[in-house]
Amino acid sequence: MIELPDIKELHVEIDKIENKHTLEKNISLSILRLDKIHPEIQGNKFFKLYYFLEKAITAQNKIITFGGAYSNHLAATASACTMFGIKCIGIVRGEEAKDISHTLQFCKEHGMQLEFISRENYKRKDDEDFKKELIPKFGNHILIPEGGFSKEGTDGAALISNFYSKEGFTHICCAVGTATTLAGLISSSLPSHHVIGFSAIKHLDDFEKRIQFLIGNSINKNYSLTNDYDFGGYAKNTDELISFMNAFYKAYAIPTVFFSTGKMMFGVLDLIKKNYFPL
Ligand SMILES: *Cc1c(COP(=O)(O)O)cnc(C)c1O
Repeated sequence: MIELPDIKELHVEIDKIENKHTLEKNISLSILRLDKIHPEIQGNKFFKLYYFLEKAITAQNKIITFGGAYSNHLAATASACTMFGIKCIGIVRGEEAKDISHTLQFCKEHGMQLEFISRENYKRKDDEDFKKELIPKFGNHILIPEGGFSKEGTDGAALISNFYSKEGFTHICCAVGTATTLAGLISSSLPSHHVIGFSAIKHLDDFEKRIQFLIGNSINKNYSLTNDYDFGGYAKNTDELISFMNAFYKAYAIPTVFFSTGKMMFGVLDLIKKNYFPL
């Protein structure tokens, strides 16, 4: 197996975003380009995996994780595991389709062993007896919950704070799926920061419960979640969102994805327009 890179060796960029409204209102807006760390692994996914990968490398163990047919977490895990020579198994929700999804194809090509289980059975994935059954089936392993939703995932996401100057910002914004990345950003923030999550999922009703589980004792309670820019749910999109993302790419040469960062950037720029941020 190969050693994990030192966090300090990773290359990321910070890009400034200016438009009519930021200039008019004298707001400084920057985007942390975690997508620059690797062409395949989305930045926040790698950070959520960081401590699990470290554990797998140290213990020379394999990784088992979970996801649906379009799970970027599965893809990131497959990619990271090949990179560091870790064996990995992906337990996929639902029966195997004739035409396997692009995401699962990617996982296979990166050496992930895929195990399809029924939706019924998948619901049991966090139960203790389900987890016990995995040992005789797949051997000793390190288990990563779906989407990396865990305290280890949160601690990994907190490493993201190494890449920006904490003094330079008043607000930190992040797209939210499982809320693990956001929890890491909250736990590593200063009490003076306001951390804003942009829900990519419709009705993320258990948000507070998730944050409590991940970082119940966080010193910064100054965070919030907005559901105003979910565009109808995780895998949905609208023409308005797609044209926004195209225009954003044209203006700044920064790619966004419709299920998360596209919605968040739309939301951030809309909030600036609506004078949400204090001058
Ligand atoms: C997966 C993903 C998210 C969601 O992260 P969670 O930790 O599950 O909330 C947000 N933004 C991007 C770019 C992602 O790839």
